[in-house]
Amino acid sequence: MALERVDAAAAMGALAARWRAAGARVGFVPTMGALHAGHRSLIQAARAECDRVVVSVFVNPRQFGPDEDLDRYPRTLDADLRLAGEAGADAAFVPKVEAVYPPGFATTVSVSGLTEGLCGASRPGHFDGVATVVARLFGIVGPCRAYFGQKDYQQVAVVRRMVADLALPVAVVSCPIVREPDGLAMSSRNRYLDADTRRRAAAVPRALEAGAARVAAGEHDPERVLGVMRALLEAAGGRVDYVAAVNAETLRAVARVGMGDVLLVAVRFGGTRLIDNRVLS
Ligand code: AMP
Repeated sequence: MALERVDAAAAMGALAARWRAAGARVGFVPTMGALHAGHRSLIQAARAECDRVVVSVFVNPRQFGPDEDLDRYPRTLDADLRLAGEAGADAAFVPKVEAVYPPGFATTVSVSGLTEGLCGASRPGHFDGVATVVARLFGIVGPCRAYFGQKDYQQVAVVRRMVADLALPVAVVSCPIVREPDGLAMSSRNRYLDADTRRRAAAVPRALEAGAARVAAGEHDPERVLGVMRALLEAAGGRVDYVAAVNAETLRAVARVGMGDVLLVAVRFGGTRLIDNRVLS
């Protein structure tokens, strides 16, 4: 079936309401566009589990800091609509900023605790922007299931917390990280990398791999594990924002790292900030 593009919030809400009234399970995949195989995997997961699938393409200004890449964030709408349709989406919600934040919009959703460390520490306000837009999009679309990538580990944790705290009637599904052949996690921001930086960025998954290997070999001291990771990233020319070993639920740093914990990385290569993570299993 052809993909239906919807721009207005009211029209999106009405379409999803018609589907729900007909008994359909509505799946939802929020994105900022520049879609790649990672996004495709989310759409396919939604397609497999739901009767109707909505993908949103919205570069959310509220989750960018003043010195971040909002203006140059890649926008590839025609290709996005093609990919979304081919992956099995029924509708693409492509709102303008005013449709998401109409005049008078005055609410901020702020999840405390989980948002203070990791990306929250270097991107103040970022997770307020994420939680607010996701809550608003959930309100418009009314999905019964929403699909997120484990790539943004902290984001999924924040959305889960928000959904639980606000008793929103939606199941949050976390999907595995889709990677390039050399292991680099797919990201819309990978487009910023020139050939040399792109090669060096493969140190990110290698660092996570090396950290996980240390733990598997019996090293439980986070400082040592993280030291190995940091050294690999810096040797590749990366400027480390953070390397962390945290509890999978609380996202608090662990004193002893072991199975079930998560290793996370944020690192800059050139002007591009990359994040990745690995759950130790
Ligand atoms: P974004 O467009 O970057 O905001 O991402 C939209 C959704 O796609 C988020 O839930 C991301 O976690 C997810 N996503 C981004 N990259 C990947 C990837 N490489 N594998 C799986 N999911 C991803």
